Amino acid sequence: MSTDPRAYKYSGDVLQDRVILITGSSDGIGRALALEAARLGAQVILHGRNAKKLEKVYDEILAIDGAARPSIAVLDLASANADGYTTLANSVADDIGRLDGLVHNAAIVGDRFSIEQYDAVAWQKVMHVNVTASFALTQVLLPLLRASDDASVVFTSSGVGRTGRAYWGAYAASKFAIEGLSQVLADEHRHASLRSNCVNPGATRTGMRLEAFPAEDRSLLKTPEQVLAPYIYLLGPDSRGVTGQSFDSQ
Ligand code: NAP
Repeated sequence: MSTDPRAYKYSGDVLQDRVILITGSSDGIGRALALEAARLGAQVILHGRNAKKLEKVYDEILAIDGAARPSIAVLDLASANADGYTTLANSVADDIGRLDGLVHNAAIVGDRFSIEQYDAVAWQKVMHVNVTASFALTQVLLPLLRASDDASVVFTSSGVGRTGRAYWGAYAASKFAIEGLSQVLADEHRHASLRSNCVNPGATRTGMRLEAFPAEDRSLLKTPEQVLAPYIYLLGPDSRGVTGQSFDSQ
């Protein structure tokens, strides 16, 4: 089996019986990952802020032959309070009783201004949704993840989370922070059966990309379905022991 996560080839049951929560699975890369994980045998917990969009993905998963029935967790990461996170974690514990994978995928791109012009409130919102929410969700789900004998947390990074670029402001800073959060979590669990890694999906044909680059030729971009291999690798058994690292999908 290939060890380059970008070219990872996997069997049709590589995520069999794993319970995996994917944030922002109502659209884009998160939605594509939820469908693929369900095809590969996982029981998926669909998270997002829009119940109607999540129900559509839920129905798409039910239509997959042999897929486990998913569940839905609605929580707006921009406004959620401590009770919201606790309720979500308690419902995973009570309804399913297990969690083997957590994918932090939901994010917003926010304003594209210079640092000089960036509005502080808009800055805070991006940092909150992209970073603080990932911290808060990880924290409440850690007891369940630690109880798994092969747990994987996957954070979503970006090219601008590795090298800063003009006018990417809070989004770039938030993705640098995500890389740091993933490494801290990995180091805190270096003797445990929990791994933590980052994936940068690269330029992908989604709503977020359209918002950031409205004029580009979208036909040249990879589809969400084409960037999933590193996520599947990190969520499945072949990445056991791989932690504190950052991978690219393209
Ligand atoms: P997308 O199509 O815009 O999807 C983002 C998802 O996050 C949607 O499900 C969205 O929900 C959800 N979300 C946003 N704000 C939320 C909130 N406050 N509470 C709960 N859910 C929220 O974006 P994408 O391109 O698939 O991006 C997925 C990840 O890849 C992000 O972390 C992004 O930074 C990263 N990334 C993307 C690219 C790219 O080219 N696309 C490149 C590098 C990194 P709604 O459906 O309700 O909007």
